[in-house]
Amino acid sequence: MTTTIYLALTHDWELRGDGSGDIEEIQFAPLRRLLNVYAKFGARTTFMPDVMQQTKFRSLQNDHSELKALADSWDDHTREAFRQGHDVQLHLHSQWSDAKYEDGEWELRGEWSLLKYDPDRAKTMIAQCKLYLENLLRPLDHTYRSVAFRGSALAIAPSAHLLSSLADLGIEVDVSVAPGFSLNNNTLQLDYRDCDEPFLPYYPRMDDARRVSVRRERIVCVPLNHFYGSRVEVTKQNLALVGNRLLDQKSKSIAAASPTPRLDSKRRGLGRVYEKLIEPALKGKYFVSDTGRLNYPLMEEMIRSIRRGARETGLPKLPVVITNHPKDIRDWSGLERFVGDCAGAEDIEFITLSEIAGKFRGGEFQVRTAETSHR
Ligand SMILES: [Zn+2]
Repeated sequence: MTTTIYLALTHDWELRGDGSGDIEEIQFAPLRRLLNVYAKFGARTTFMPDVMQQTKFRSLQNDHSELKALADSWDDHTREAFRQGHDVQLHLHSQWSDAKYEDGEWELRGEWSLLKYDPDRAKTMIAQCKLYLENLLRPLDHTYRSVAFRGSALAIAPSAHLLSSLADLGIEVDVSVAPGFSLNNNTLQLDYRDCDEPFLPYYPRMDDARRVSVRRERIVCVPLNHFYGSRVEVTKQNLALVGNRLLDQKSKSIAAASPTPRLDSKRRGLGRVYEKLIEPALKGKYFVSDTGRLNYPLMEEMIRSIRRGARETGLPKLPVVITNHPKDIRDWSGLERFVGDCAGAEDIEFITLSEIAGKFRGGEFQVRTAETSHR
């Protein structure tokens, strides 16, 4: 029996984490280009805009007319994606909660992780962002609801309140947990290395989304897919990236014509080369399934790994969620080829997050509890 993979292509659509980046160049232009790619293959996907960013632009637009023009354009782009049949669901970056705007630059002073806010504050942020999206899209479709959520920088667990707050607000599906992922620096501490369920949808324990609950809960987690790249392709992609970076450095140092920072960046560059080339070559390298950050051969490895995982479940059908960061897309022709491959594959159907929520509601997709196992 072949397992049908319902593949949700999702996108974190946003400026850089520190608020920098030209919004036309890294948000608007890639969105328009993606819509063209998807229209070509009839793929319906889900955009997950960082709505905190947008509400912050709106809150300062009376004093800064340029922010109003950009926020209006953000709305237009979001509505256009929706009009073309794509879903739009909720993502937010809490670091915008305390943003300062001066001389055309943002300074984001809020905490990056929603887990660091008190429950009421976090819930209010989510509620306001959800309302913004619903007000934006309901004139186009009065049945529209925000039902799916991805947290700031994937931060969702552990938390005594976050999942309950999401469920209270009508969120039915969370797509924040990327099993295997971990981060520990001054800004963010996340540890998803030990997750109960790496692949299938599950009911999470309400105080810790990494754990599968023993019973049905008010929200379903669908893991953000991950895979391990082969050493050959990981090394090739890293070599290409190092090549780009050296070219970049060369043009920058010619522009700056200053010998001191050149030496410095060269030294740091070497450390990076070692880290990027040697380390992943020792073992397959962990990747979150993010088509913005992969070249075509790695996208192929990703889909092979998804098919293998799907086959092992023995289920007739299941949803798989992958992501994309339009601001980072590095292989546009590879991405287009990948979307074409999926569109033509008999065992793959595109699905939006709203449709996934509907299939959970209707019992069409199985959801794991700690008592049921498909392995
Ligand atoms: Zn994001």
